[in-house]
Amino acid sequence: MLVRRGERSGLYTFVAVHSTVRGPALGGCRMWTYEDPREALQDVLRLARAMTYKMAVADLPLGGGKGVIMLAPHTSISRQRRHAALLDFADTVAMLRGRYITAEDVGTSSRDMSVIAGQTRYVAGLSRRQGGSGDPSPFTALGVEYAIRACCERVFGSDSLQGRTLAVVGLGHVGSRLARRCARAGARLVLADVDAGKRELAEQLGGRWMTPERALEAEVEILAPCALGGVLNQETVPRLRCRIIAGAANNQLADDRVADLLAARGILWAPDFVANAGGVINIAEELGSYDPAAARRRVRGIAETLRRIFADAEASGATPLTAAMELARRRLVPPTD
Ligand code: NAD
Repeated sequence: MLVRRGERSGLYTFVAVHSTVRGPALGGCRMWTYEDPREALQDVLRLARAMTYKMAVADLPLGGGKGVIMLAPHTSISRQRRHAALLDFADTVAMLRGRYITAEDVGTSSRDMSVIAGQTRYVAGLSRRQGGSGDPSPFTALGVEYAIRACCERVFGSDSLQGRTLAVVGLGHVGSRLARRCARAGARLVLADVDAGKRELAEQLGGRWMTPERALEAEVEILAPCALGGVLNQETVPRLRCRIIAGAANNQLADDRVADLLAARGILWAPDFVANAGGVINIAEELGSYDPAAARRRVRGIAETLRRIFADAEASGATPLTAAMELARRRLVPPTD
């Protein structure tokens, strides 16, 4: 864990390396507002741990890490200071000499990654023009679609989406693409976002528009949370009417016990760190010689990973969350030679 106060910007930059057992730790750089540095510290540690699980379950030669640039609350940041903060963060990354590779995350873009790349080579998620793999969200959406298909196969005996009812909550980079893909595959959609401007997409795709609160409780077969974390909790789970949950949002469960609540209600949940790994699977391809077709093939493999997790869960009487974490732990044993 490295915490530094940037020389140029005066802002705190954090890098947490949770595990390098499988390879260098990869994880995005989050530029976000926190009330105090302890809150940022907790966030970066929690996110780095989740990345370790994500990489191990996806069987990537990478470990888990995360970066944070902490913005002060209730103040806006000038362009110059933001640029300075990115350079300061780049110094923190460079100090780890390859044990951590950064990428874009909430609050940063591939353009920001180019700024960081001016100072250190340990950067992924650069634009296609710069030889990187570009925007990860199409790959994340593809992975979520295949996670949904694996769940349908388990619950309905077929992975076809034809005629299935699906609610997508959150129509941003990933959710909008997922909605389009599933509409093309014949699903009947309920669409929701806090931004009413997204209603147009619902009209385009012939979906029913609802508020996020109502969409969460809609009578649909599949729910795809694609906005913020924590949507599945002690209050919301008893009110759900879906059979399957698979979406892109990180940290969907308010805490791990919610996985038991879902299982008790007979709802099949695809662990988020398995379902939403398409973006990092694509970025991992970038570290070799980037081939988008190979990346798509690997992303579709999320369905196979989930089949295995559901079978393990059934065999041991555990939840999919426990089975997925168990799979990750087995893959985190250091090589012996
Ligand atoms: P985004 O910011 O592009 O989209 C988020 C959307 O959710 C926006 O349209 C926003 O208006 C909407 N939203 C916000 N609060 C909401 C609420 N309470 N109810 C309904 N809608 C709400 O983000 P994104 O890149 O599409 O990512 C979506 C989620 O998936 C995030 O949790 C992100 O961490 C996770 N994720 C994204 C990727 C990726 O490749 N982009 C990869 C892995 C995980």
